[in-house]
Amino acid sequence: MKSPSYIGRFAPTPSGYLHFGSLVAALASYLDARSVNGLWLMRMEDLDPTREVAGAQAAILHALEHYGFEWDGELIKQSQRHDAYEQIVQRWFSHGLAYACTCSRKQLEDFQGIYPGLCRNLGHDPDSAAIRIRVPELEYRFEDRVQGLYSQHLGRDVGDFVIRRRDGLYAYQLAVVIDDAWQGVTDIVRGADLLDSTPRQLYLQELLGFPQPRYLHLPLITQPDGNKLGKSYRSPPLPADQVTPLLLRALRALGQKAGDELSYASSREVLDWGIRHWDATLVPRTRSLAEAELS
Ligand code: GLU
Ligand code: ZN
Repeated sequence: MKSPSYIGRFAPTPSGYLHFGSLVAALASYLDARSVNGLWLMRMEDLDPTREVAGAQAAILHALEHYGFEWDGELIKQSQRHDAYEQIVQRWFSHGLAYACTCSRKQLEDFQGIYPGLCRNLGHDPDSAAIRIRVPELEYRFEDRVQGLYSQHLGRDVGDFVIRRRDGLYAYQLAVVIDDAWQGVTDIVRGADLLDSTPRQLYLQELLGFPQPRYLHLPLITQPDGNKLGKSYRSPPLPADQVTPLLLRALRALGQKAGDELSYASSREVLDWGIRHWDATLVPRTRSLAEAELS
């Protein structure tokens, strides 16, 4: 029996193929869920068609299946969820919590990414303007299972942030919070590149009265030359014939003590070993080195 007291998910963006960093994130969220008999859901974060690579959705899902991952329930696509996002944007806009911003990139370039509130009280028309949510002068903090205590002052460090872009596309921060709650997600396991998004998400959860999930942010995976291997949208797809070695590399990048006796195991056997032995306390906090490139 699977216990709904744990619901995890993997939420890839189809702006590129599955690469080693995303395999590590998929594996960690999968093992964390399955090791406690939890559910593991799949959500395609296809919010931005302008950054989508043709064929990437199918390629990501196919690669995951090829590695032996099985998800529960139907695949959710964010491109099908616009009504849910729009409803919240409208509600906040009509309550004055969100407002239209017409600032150009040029006008904001001196503010280091922290929006200075220029349009806060100007009452711009929301059509063809970005919509920003007002943030309070408060610190949002949470205890990450690997990274420890993390906090950010939303007013000082972020400023009012975009929830719907000028071109009408919904922001990741908004969609992720709405969908995680809608899917009942209790545990979020993802890359540390999203650590500094989490306080914004906590704030939106609070506004919406949603429960706060537990968080585990994984270390960034770096290549042996020290370069980050992560959001490189040009990363080549992972080789299809190296499933077991890549899963073992991913397990070791997660600090799990996968021994050489697994070298001849099938991908399913490696995943089952991972489920039985998963220990989140072994996950390194900062950088994790991807071993030498596979030929
Ligand atoms: N779609 C995001 C990504 O591919 C992950 C979002 C999340 O896990 O919250 O980086
Ligand atoms: Zn503005």
